[in-house]
Amino acid sequence: MLIGISITSYLIASVLFILSLGGLRNQETARSGNYYGMIGMAIAILVTVLNPNVEAYGLLIVALLMGGFIGAILARRVKMTGMPELVAILHSFVGLAAILVGYNNFIEPNALTGSELIVHNVEVFLGILIGAVTFSGSLVAFGKLSGRVSGKPVLLPARHWLNLAIGLICLGLGYWFVAAGSSQEAMGALVTMTVLALIFGIHMVLMIGGADMPVVVSMLNSYSGWAAATTGFMLSNNLLIVTGALVGSSGAILSYIMCEAMNRDFLSVIAGGFGTDTGSPSTEKSSEVKGEVTAVTAQEVADLLTSSRRVIVVPGYGMAVAHAQHTVFEIANTLRGRKIDVRFAIHPVAGRMPGHMNVLLAEAKVPYGLVFEMDEINEDFDKTDVVIVIGANDIVNPSALEDPSSPIAGMPVLEVWKAKTVIVSKRGMATGYAGVDNPLFYKENTRMLFGDAKKMMDEVLKALV
Ligand code: NDP
Repeated sequence: MLIGISITSYLIASVLFILSLGGLRNQETARSGNYYGMIGMAIAILVTVLNPNVEAYGLLIVALLMGGFIGAILARRVKMTGMPELVAILHSFVGLAAILVGYNNFIEPNALTGSELIVHNVEVFLGILIGAVTFSGSLVAFGKLSGRVSGKPVLLPARHWLNLAIGLICLGLGYWFVAAGSSQEAMGALVTMTVLALIFGIHMVLMIGGADMPVVVSMLNSYSGWAAATTGFMLSNNLLIVTGALVGSSGAILSYIMCEAMNRDFLSVIAGGFGTDTGSPSTEKSSEVKGEVTAVTAQEVADLLTSSRRVIVVPGYGMAVAHAQHTVFEIANTLRGRKIDVRFAIHPVAGRMPGHMNVLLAEAKVPYGLVFEMDEINEDFDKTDVVIVIGANDIVNPSALEDPSSPIAGMPVLEVWKAKTVIVSKRGMATGYAGVDNPLFYKENTRMLFGDAKKMMDEVLKALV
């Protein structure tokens, strides 16, 4: 009877997770998608805790309370700009859990023999391998996204050989581990593989730099799913297998979509080298950008905006940092009240996590009908009077299309320079995440509005009303 209830509940939770992913596909249904996920997870935890095999309730309650408390505090405190780091560190926890469950599974005595022991050992080995790569890779991604570790790619001279060697040694260790069964020797193989997998995770993410980071973020998301799925196999927990596979495959699809959006080949992203065939680091700048920039005041921006018929707003990472989204929407509303057509253009890798700008604009209650993806709006820039770029840089860099030697060459960008006038709101002349100079700022039709985006947008709004 209890087993029946548990299977049914796991099935319901799995369906809720699938509905959750379905809901998260677009902004209108994202909220209900989140609710489905929360209900599914609550059912999953409850059924797992009530499992008759669970004995150490004291420990479990302490762990649940501690985890729940830390999670609630983190969720309350995290700023939208800190979300990518939080997601990365959470992925590392999944990896760590897979390592711990794997070792526990190996150490725990079992009566398995023959093919059952082989299958068990393969599960343990794969679980720890994927978990270790996810764990160390996510920690480095956390460091890069939070600025604690340099975003530039670290390219060792024989990096591909190093990766290949680690891969081959791990393969050999896997064979040795499975053949050794449950002996002391097997433990040696397991520990050696764990250390190598940890090194591989660190090296893999260190190699990737600049504009390729979005792919790494979604790739680690995928790895964390596969780590959870292998944990599910070790624990014979069907729900964990289903959930892990859902996260793993959706993360893999997202990585593919990110690569498509950036015109990057998935394998070359993983191989590192940041968009260069030769693998030269992004610190080697492409043709230096030189020229004069034209600065404008908030009043001049307000005048330019009111005298236009079509305006496109391009938000970027700086808008998130400055929390300027609400003021930007007020500006858009004021202009729309004057019968000016205002739309928002979103680049797939704007900000620091997939969908970052969509979340910001939704938070500011910008109607979805005004928000357009890059492919939908890129052809309209030449029919636009004013484009206002707020805290964006790499995603509007013309050298991606015009300079084959640029480290971001080939990455599709929002072609804002085709508009009559481009206003760029940023604090100074600093580069964006990819560390690449931007010729847009020196173009004849570009006007630079220097200062913190929130402060400057407040001033523009004041000048408008
Ligand atoms: P960028 O990082 O290219 O540029 C942001 C710009 O914002 C900077 O040049 C900075 O210039 C400006 N800025 C910072 N703070 C403020 C502020 N308070 N007010 C005004 N401006 C400010 O951002 P984009 O969104 O254009 O591009 C995203 C980049 O991040 C891409 O390279 C992408 O590959 C990468 N990335 C994306 C991820 C994703 O999943 N979306 C994940 C990881 C990386 P200044 O200092 O002069 O003000």
